[in-house]
Amino acid sequence: MDRTVLVIEDNEQNRYLVTFLLERHGLRVVSEPDGPRGIDTARSLRPDLILLDIQLPVMNGYEVARELRKLPDVADVPIVAVTSYAMAGDRESALDAGCSGYIEKPIDPDTFVDDVCAFLPASGQEKAPS
Ligand code: MN
Repeated sequence: MDRTVLVIEDNEQNRYLVTFLLERHGLRVVSEPDGPRGIDTARSLRPDLILLDIQLPVMNGYEVARELRKLPDVADVPIVAVTSYAMAGDRESALDAGCSGYIEKPIDPDTFVDDVCAFLPASGQEKAPS
């Protein structure tokens, strides 16, 4: 079964690049442009991993991560924050908000997929029944 990554990212070019790179690697990608829609989709989709931009409209990524962690079905899903290289404080705040780790922006297309996959549960591992 294909593993699914939910990408919550407001920038269309970043969304396109991330989707392209992950799909090329055989992952299924669903993307949403803001936190409220991302949370709704996380709830219904139960993705294997969530890639979360920090600078988002409506709710910032920290707020989104905190809300995601309150959802029983999403509580164990790895959340990888995408943080600006310039904003060192983002990383600590992302982890404090419940993210599993972070990847720095701008994304390096040569290492991005490996960096993301390091947070994916091992292939073939089934989700625990809830
Ligand atoms: Mn953004």
